Amino acid sequence: MQDLAPYAAQEETSRGRVHAEPAPNHRGQYQRDRDRIIHSAAFRRLEYKTQVFVNHEGDMFRTRLTHSIEVAQIGRTIARALNLNEDLTEAICLAHDLGHTPFGHAGQDRLNLCMKDYGGFEHNLQSLRVVEVLEEKYAEFPGLNLMYETREGILKHCSRGKASELGELGRRFLDGGQPGLEAQVANMADEIAYNNHDVDDGLRAGLISMDQLDACRLFETQRRSVVDKWPDLADKPMTHEIIRRMIDYLVSDLVNTSRANINFHKPENIDMVRKLNVPLICFSDEVYEQQVELKRFLRVNLYQHGRVKQMTDRAKEIIQDLFDAYMRDAGLLPPDTRARSARNHEHGGVSGRARVIADYIAGMTDRFAIAEYERVRRT
Ligand code: MG
Repeated sequence: MQDLAPYAAQEETSRGRVHAEPAPNHRGQYQRDRDRIIHSAAFRRLEYKTQVFVNHEGDMFRTRLTHSIEVAQIGRTIARALNLNEDLTEAICLAHDLGHTPFGHAGQDRLNLCMKDYGGFEHNLQSLRVVEVLEEKYAEFPGLNLMYETREGILKHCSRGKASELGELGRRFLDGGQPGLEAQVANMADEIAYNNHDVDDGLRAGLISMDQLDACRLFETQRRSVVDKWPDLADKPMTHEIIRRMIDYLVSDLVNTSRANINFHKPENIDMVRKLNVPLICFSDEVYEQQVELKRFLRVNLYQHGRVKQMTDRAKEIIQDLFDAYMRDAGLLPPDTRARSARNHEHGGVSGRARVIADYIAGMTDRFAIAEYERVRRT
């Protein structure tokens, strides 16, 4: 058993599950959560969802699944170094993107626009909805019935309007509190993972170059140290040697800074962490700025690159067309979704029906959304 710090999430003081269940036999409660997430349909679908590049653009780019696994790897390292609950951290990391639509952020932004008169669409809230409502697996409850701390971690952001509907779970977005440290670790592990693998994927796709990346101190410093040691290294190992150093540099800074923050604030338990008005898991100011610099670089040079934009523009069209078609003609929906949309229309009117359609579209993989788009156009 892991040696947990007093401020880590502990099973004994957990706020528990919504539906009471007997304790697991051979696993801890958070291990059980992780296992339920891995066995969920939404988790399997992450394999065919875009991170930056559409899934079928090439087999070597990250998908949401490999992204989530990398986030979990980084998160576990940080959690163990700080004596936090590694199982809980892993569960949150693996679940953090379950609510993502096909086609990455472009898909989500367009679905939010489609839903603007019907309550909107937020991907963090959708991840929570997947584990609370949409997964249909158990006889005795809807969703996965995860521990409170896991759900707290999955809900990374949330608008104030929605937060007020979520009871205890939404309170921190209204009162300015913090989630437990495992949730904070998962959040930072996500940033470290995507910044670094997007550099890797961007270089591999030929959309950005190492010389361009030298404008970022984070990259330039590590590149220099690799070139000093191996001036003639080939491109692939060169890229990897730089990126592994960037990850190590960020993780080390995060662990050291967070440890100092913890020592300063001395939280005695998770509830004291929640009451603080600042997160404790953070980078030093200097490294934070370098990280922001890299993010800005990626936004301008990769996410807004013509080739990526071509994909995102098409993605928006696909999502919009699907939403409009299903709203117009429920006959295009599969029978169980059609039945649910009719039921929801009875209780929640057009908004209720729109929510079922948004859930259906959000659950699609890239390739299924494209195939549906072609089918719907023909009808
Ligand atoms: Mg992510």
